[in-house]
Amino acid sequence: MNPDSQKLVIVGHGAAGLAAAVSAAEQARSRGLRIEITLLEKAREADAGGNTRWSPSYMRMAAPDRLAPGFEEDMQRASGGLADRDYFRTLAENAAATLGWLGMQGVSFDTPVYYLSAGPPRIQPVGGGRAIIDRLAEAAAKSAVKLRYESPAIRLRMGEGGVSGVEVRSSGRDVTVLDADAVILASGGFQGDVTMMRKHFGPAAETLKLISPGTRFDTGDGIRMAMDQGASISGDWNGMHIEPIDPRSQHSAAVVLVYPYGIVADRDGRRFFDEGGGLVHETWEAFARDIHFSRPNSIAYAILDSRLFDIIGYERAIRSDVAPHQAGTIEELAMLIGIPARNLKATIDAYNAAATGDPAKFDAARSDGLAADRTLQPPKSNWARAIVKPPYVAYPLVGGIAYTFGGLATNSNAEVLSEQGPMPGLYAAGETTGHFYGTAPNAVAVLRALVFGRIAGRQAVDYLQKQAAQPGR
Ligand SMILES: Cc1cc2nc3c(=O)[nH]c(=O)nc-3n(C[C@H](O)[C@H](O)[C@H](O)COP(=O)(O)OP(=O)(O)OC[C@H]3O[C@@H](n4cnc5c(N)ncnc54)[C@H](O)[C@@H]3O)c2cc1C
Repeated sequence: MNPDSQKLVIVGHGAAGLAAAVSAAEQARSRGLRIEITLLEKAREADAGGNTRWSPSYMRMAAPDRLAPGFEEDMQRASGGLADRDYFRTLAENAAATLGWLGMQGVSFDTPVYYLSAGPPRIQPVGGGRAIIDRLAEAAAKSAVKLRYESPAIRLRMGEGGVSGVEVRSSGRDVTVLDADAVILASGGFQGDVTMMRKHFGPAAETLKLISPGTRFDTGDGIRMAMDQGASISGDWNGMHIEPIDPRSQHSAAVVLVYPYGIVADRDGRRFFDEGGGLVHETWEAFARDIHFSRPNSIAYAILDSRLFDIIGYERAIRSDVAPHQAGTIEELAMLIGIPARNLKATIDAYNAAATGDPAKFDAARSDGLAADRTLQPPKSNWARAIVKPPYVAYPLVGGIAYTFGGLATNSNAEVLSEQGPMPGLYAAGETTGHFYGTAPNAVAVLRALVFGRIAGRQAVDYLQKQAAQPGR
C-alpha cells in the first residue's frame, strides 16, 4: 500500500453511507492524511438516497442533544432481549454528538407532532430524510469525495491483508475494478430483492408492496458481497419493518393509522386481531405483516364511523391522498368495498354489543383502557367505541415493507465480523447490518445509520493510518 494513494470506497448514498463519507473526509483532513474517498451509488443522482430519502426520519430523542429516557432498555424490550448491548450502548452514547455534528452540516431539527398516538419523545430533521441526504451530499462533495452515481458495487475483492477492491458495474454492463484499501458497506437491506425476500419470507413476499420509491434500490448487495467473503450475520432474518398502507394511493408511505379507533375486517368481513392492542407503533408491524402473509387476498379494511372526523388531528394519521369509502349503512359500505354485507354487519353488531364502556373515556392519543367486554373475540383492549354514527367509513389496507432486519454482524467500531474476528479494512452501517430482532425499535433506524456510518468513517481512516505506518508498506 502506498501511503500517498490510500483509497477508501463507500457503497451507498443513504444516511449511513453519506455520514461515513463526510466523517472519513473530516478525519483524513484533520490528521493530514491523503485518502482518496469514492462513494458508489447504484441509482441516478436524482433517485439516490434509498430509504432515507423518503423517510420522515423520526428519531427517538428528547431533544437533539438528549436521548429519549429508557432508550437502552427499550431496545432490549423491542428485541425480546436479543439486542447486542454493546452496539446499542454505543448508539446511545454517540447519538447526541452525531446529531450535533449533523447540525454542523446544516441539518436542523424540530419536534414533530407524531401521527395521533403519543409514545416515546421524537425529534425530526426539518425537511425529513431528504434534508439529511442533500446536506451530507453537499458536504461530501465539498470535501472532495468522489460521488459516482449509476455505479452499483457488485463484488468485493480480498487480498492477503484484507479488502483490496470493489467490482463495479458501470455504464450498464461493463465491470471495472476499483482498488480499495478499506471499504464501508452501506447499501441498505434486502427488501428490494425478490429472490432474497422469497428465500427468507416465502413465495408471498414476491408480491409485497415497497413502501417508498427509494426502497427498491436496497437489494442486499452489500450483505451478499460481504457474506461471499466469509462475513458473519446478525439480526432476525425473518424480521421486517412493514406498515399498513392504502393500496389506492400513489403517495410514498400512504399509511392509514386510524385503525385502532374502529375495527379491521378481512375480505370475508371478519375481525382477526386486537385493533386496540397498543399504540399504533406497537401494533402496526405485526398487523401489516399479518395482512400480507395471512389474510385472504392480502388485504383488510379499517372500518370506522363518522366520529373519526371529530378526533382532533385525525388527518395526521392518514397519509393517503385518496378519500375513504363512505356509506349511510354498513351494508352499503360492504357493497362498496366488495365484502359480504351479512358478515360485516354481523361482525359490527357483535363488536357494538361488546363496546359497552363509557365513550367519554375515549382518548386517541394514549392507551385509554376503553376495552370491549371480555366476551369479544378477538378482544379489543383500547378505544372500543361502538360504530354507530353514519356515514360509515372504510379504508382498504395492505402491507408496505420499509426494510429487513437480517444483515451483517458488526461490532461497536462498525467493523464487519467473521468467525475469526473483524475483517481487516471492512466496515458496515445502517440496514446492511443486522442487530434488529423481534420488532423494529421505533424511530431508531435513521439514528443508527448516522451514528454507525460516522463511526465507520472514522474507524476506516484509523485503520488506513495504521496500515500506512506499518514498515514495508
Ligand atoms: C417511508 C419510510 C419511512 C421511514 N420512517 C422512519 C422513521 O421515521 N424513523 C426511522 O428511524 N426510520 C425510518 N425509516 C427507516 C429508515 O429510513 C432507514 O432504515 C434508513 O434511512 C436506512 O439508511 P441506510 O443508509 O442504511 O440505507 P438507505 O437509505 O436505503 O441507503 C442505501 C443506499 O445504497 C444504495 N445501493 C444499494 N445497493 C447498492 C449497490 N450495489 N451499489 C451502490 N449503491 C447501492 C441505494 O441506492 C441507496 O442509495 C423509514 C423508511 C421508509 C422507507
